[in-house]
Amino acid sequence: MVSIDDKLQPILTEVLRRNAGEAEFHQAVHEVLESLGRVIAKHPHYLERSLIERICEPERQIIFRVPWHDDAGHIHINRGFRVQFNSALGPYKGGLRFHPSVNVGIIKFLGFEQTFKNALTGLPIGGGKGGSDFDPKGKSENEVMRFCQSFMTELFRHLGEYTDVPAGDIGVGGREIGYMFGQYKRLTNRYEAGVLTGKGLAYGGSRARKEATGYGNTWFVEAMLATKGETFEGKRVVVSGSGNVAIYTMEKVAALGGKVIACSDSGGYVVDENGIDTGLVKEIKEVRRGRISEYARLKGEGAHYITGGSIWDVPCDVAMPSATQNELTGKDARTLVKNGLLAVGEGANMPSTPDAIHIFRASGVLFAPGKAANAGGVATSALEMQQNASRDSWSSEQTQTRLAGIMRSIHDTCAATADEYGAPGDYVLGANIAGFVKVAEAMDALGVI
Ligand code: GLU
Repeated sequence: MVSIDDKLQPILTEVLRRNAGEAEFHQAVHEVLESLGRVIAKHPHYLERSLIERICEPERQIIFRVPWHDDAGHIHINRGFRVQFNSALGPYKGGLRFHPSVNVGIIKFLGFEQTFKNALTGLPIGGGKGGSDFDPKGKSENEVMRFCQSFMTELFRHLGEYTDVPAGDIGVGGREIGYMFGQYKRLTNRYEAGVLTGKGLAYGGSRARKEATGYGNTWFVEAMLATKGETFEGKRVVVSGSGNVAIYTMEKVAALGGKVIACSDSGGYVVDENGIDTGLVKEIKEVRRGRISEYARLKGEGAHYITGGSIWDVPCDVAMPSATQNELTGKDARTLVKNGLLAVGEGANMPSTPDAIHIFRASGVLFAPGKAANAGGVATSALEMQQNASRDSWSSEQTQTRLAGIMRSIHDTCAATADEYGAPGDYVLGANIAGFVKVAEAMDALGVI
């Protein structure tokens, strides 16, 4: 890991002590603090007014029991979480993740990242994150519904369109949001459409929300490539994952002339030198809720499936990690750089390890950190909130135009901030500083909160 400014070290030490064992949260805080040395040198009041310590401490952390019955009548107990990290800029906003790996440290890292990401969108949303260690894999429709209803039966009292607005993340898509919205509505007797985002189009969802994270990341990388006079045209692109983010990344990359040659899931990866057929991935993942191994069998010639291994062994010009945290290691980064990598766009949250980021930055690879590049999803959630508040529904074109403008502005803000702080082209520094300054300024104006 890169060392941090001496003045910031005591803050990090305290975060590590207070949040013992929460490795991912430590990693996320470390990465932001690494970038803040240059900020406090210019603006010492952030340090003097304890704004950095305050930003590292969530406003509220909620942990609760989620009991539910499976189809055979057995009772299961999961743990539910909501970390309401920061509401200086607006109601807490951020997704819910259902995955067996979820624990408070994971939710805290995600909430921390979300706070800066949301600030970068320029929209009035604070940061939060939640979820459960429930594993949706292999569960029936009814089991998923009962779990979502039980989860919301506890969570609803902490939510509200002006308080906290969850959405989806890994393991939570339109189906789960529907069940949770239905239960919220029953419990509160209010049709409060803006309390959840990522809703279906039939009941207050926004057009282009599903596509937004993937499209947004692709537009961000497009803008980054343009600074070097490059485009996606003819580029070999590897996209890890095969969920919502990955699918719409592949779709947009292909529309911009790039060739996506590989994608993955937790079981392995598939390579298709003819270009991944996004329609087929959608069918497998969204309709059948199946595994990516089925792709090679269904597609036939030109496609092959590799069990396990690393998708980053596939030579490419652009890497778009869109699966989960720490999926791209230092070893992977070295392989990618050796194979002539030009750019990375992080579709997932914190997918590259600190070693990998170090290697990318040291090798001059264009690197778009998740908190900037994947902000299109939450930005479109904020547009969904706008539509709900005005009881309106925008066309897909109108929504995508707004989203494209937001991604362009995030790109330009990160680039301009990196220039201002003497590190041209360093999007990590630019994103961390621009996000931090926005939140810290608002907090400072609101008193000692
Ligand atoms: N889970 C997404 C993220 O990591 C979206 C959050 C939202 O739409 O609130 O940004």
